[in-house]
Amino acid sequence: SVKENEPDRMPSLPSARGRRKSVAQETNKSNKRISSVMKPFDMQPKKGKFGESSRPNQKFYEMIQDFRETLEITPITTSDPIEPHKICVCVRKRPLNKQEFNKKEIDVVSVPGKGALLVHEPKQKVDLTKYLENQVFHFDYSFDENATNELVYKFTAKPLVQSIFQGCMATCFAYGQTGSGKTHTMGGDFTGKQQNSAKGIYALAAQDVFTNLNHRRFANLDLCVYVSFFEIYNSKVYDLLNKKAKLRVLEDDRQQVQVVGLEEVCVSSAEDVIRIIQTGSACRTSGQTSANANSSRSHAILQIVLRCNNRAATLHGKFSLIDLAGNERGTDVRSNDRSTMVETTEINRSLLALKECIRSLGKNSDHIPFRMSTLTKVLRDSFIGEKSRTCMIAMVSPGMASCEYTMNTLRYADRVKELNANSKVTA
Ligand code: ADP
Ligand code: MG
Repeated sequence: SVKENEPDRMPSLPSARGRRKSVAQETNKSNKRISSVMKPFDMQPKKGKFGESSRPNQKFYEMIQDFRETLEITPITTSDPIEPHKICVCVRKRPLNKQEFNKKEIDVVSVPGKGALLVHEPKQKVDLTKYLENQVFHFDYSFDENATNELVYKFTAKPLVQSIFQGCMATCFAYGQTGSGKTHTMGGDFTGKQQNSAKGIYALAAQDVFTNLNHRRFANLDLCVYVSFFEIYNSKVYDLLNKKAKLRVLEDDRQQVQVVGLEEVCVSSAEDVIRIIQTGSACRTSGQTSANANSSRSHAILQIVLRCNNRAATLHGKFSLIDLAGNERGTDVRSNDRSTMVETTEINRSLLALKECIRSLGKNSDHIPFRMSTLTKVLRDSFIGEKSRTCMIAMVSPGMASCEYTMNTLRYADRVKELNANSKVTA
């Protein structure tokens, strides 16, 4: 059978490995943009697989399906090599959820593998011709909707756990719009009110910390593990292990930043950590109305700290795992009230600061603009020097309705690592 209105096909992914060079280029037609333009509709109604009227964006759906048939897809597997990075940036696409599925929302994101991800942006010309703008992005790793937390963990946080035993200061960020899967990835899946914390990156990291701790190789270091868990909301710090006590952030004259009075709990097993995660997460969500779920408007930071068992409890290494606030823009905010505006401004400020700090780290710059936000202030010691390691997992929702946010997330992630030619560590 001959398909009507067949879009121009691309033989395969463009081979260009380079990254986007500037924002300006994004607004121009760059070589990363592949348009598959459809010829105008003919007047005959056409029955697709789902019937013409059953899917609101049937045409786009078909165009995307046609495009996908041209893609070579090799999803990442557990046997793929893990490369050491000083800065690692990757992307994870979640599956369409039940509501989206019921609404026949179309999936506009494809993950061919090898770090690549495509967004099939539905567009319409002035003459109503529909076409796709297929945007290609390249990251260190790309995870599709079938990837498990364990798989994502293996390539992202696991190498950082190793690094803190070697004395590194590591950070791992979950970045993306609300609903894209940040908490699912970091904290584990919530089904109803129950959180399956054992399957999140927090818990997987904790397990590996204790595996390493008991390993002969590190036994002579005589290390102890401590955990703290706090959140940053409107640039204020709240201790999730101490009834959301509000804490002060101080910087001494040697530029050492301290969160004064932060609980640091000594732990002796991964189960201890999981219990703490559950207590802290419950504390995080308590007192929230569903209308204003501010867990999406705060950053949650779990720190796993290795200290030497000497009297001074000298810091050996630290791993900060951060479930960032949703990055959706102020324009999306339905209410115009002041407190929401303040929240949005603060979130944008801290996410901008974060990007700048990681970029400075990537450039080995002496100047780290950590004072721009509370988030970067409390993470200051993780952005300086040879011993810093960082990983950002950009989360994207697959639906057409999220397309604009998805593009924002991917552009941000792209910028984080843009100048990062020398970010590979030979270790
Ligand atoms: P965020 O923290 O970014 O706002 P959540 O982690 O709460 O988003 O995810 C939103 C919803 O999508 C949750 O119901 C979550 O269980 C589900 N979800 C997210 N990522 C995945 C995934 N990879 N697989 C299955 N369900 C997911
Ligand atoms: Mg969340």
